[in-house]
Amino acid sequence: MIYSSRWTRFIIVILLLILLLEFHNSDNRLMSASSSSNQSVLSNSFFTTAKILVTSQLPYEARLIDIGSVNPNIILDIRYATENNFLHRKLYPMARCLLRGAAAKRLSQVQDYLETKGLGLKVFDCYRPLSVQRLMWEVLPDPRYVANPERGSRHNRGAAVDLTLVDSNGKELEMPTDYDDFTKQAHRDYNGASAEAMRNRQLLEEAMQQYGFIPLSTEWWHFDDPDWNKFSILDLSFEKIPFK
Ligand SMILES: [Zn+2]
Repeated sequence: MIYSSRWTRFIIVILLLILLLEFHNSDNRLMSASSSSNQSVLSNSFFTTAKILVTSQLPYEARLIDIGSVNPNIILDIRYATENNFLHRKLYPMARCLLRGAAAKRLSQVQDYLETKGLGLKVFDCYRPLSVQRLMWEVLPDPRYVANPERGSRHNRGAAVDLTLVDSNGKELEMPTDYDDFTKQAHRDYNGASAEAMRNRQLLEEAMQQYGFIPLSTEWWHFDDPDWNKFSILDLSFEKIPFK
């Protein structure tokens, strides 16, 4: 009898332990379900930190480089660092043109070439953090104007540049439209603009293509680095990227 009551107590203790363990597990499941958004924020920030390390260790060609350190003659008019853009909102904390080293080198060569003709470049946008792409998409979720952040823009890879031509005094040359004019008039095959504007558009296109950049057919100002798909989408903030 004593023997069997010992066994009964043993079995009860085991059952209680199993019950406790199950309760603990279900508690954990609930916790993870309710805090899944926090967890993704945590893993995102870890990812960003990892990317910073990786970026600084990358070869020059793939690193984000400040164009000012490569060719200070290139003029900056970073529209998203001002309210003078199609969203009428300041989206960048500072005006910087950051590009992958390979693209920065190419752009510097284009500037040198144009200077021999008494001209130069003025850039409107270069690298754009993915979080800014998301913000743009929130304000204007229209793929005709803004790249869906799910797929990302080539600007998010630091491998695209928006720009125009300037004369030796830094004055913009006439182009078919203003920057970020999302109409047919901004398309490269639009031939209703003035002869001068079309000549300037052609000149910019030829200069950029000469150094490998690929023009976008719907925006006269946009060019991609030929190796854009080798570079990943980044979400590093402007402040964290070295100036030199
Ligand atoms: Zn662009």
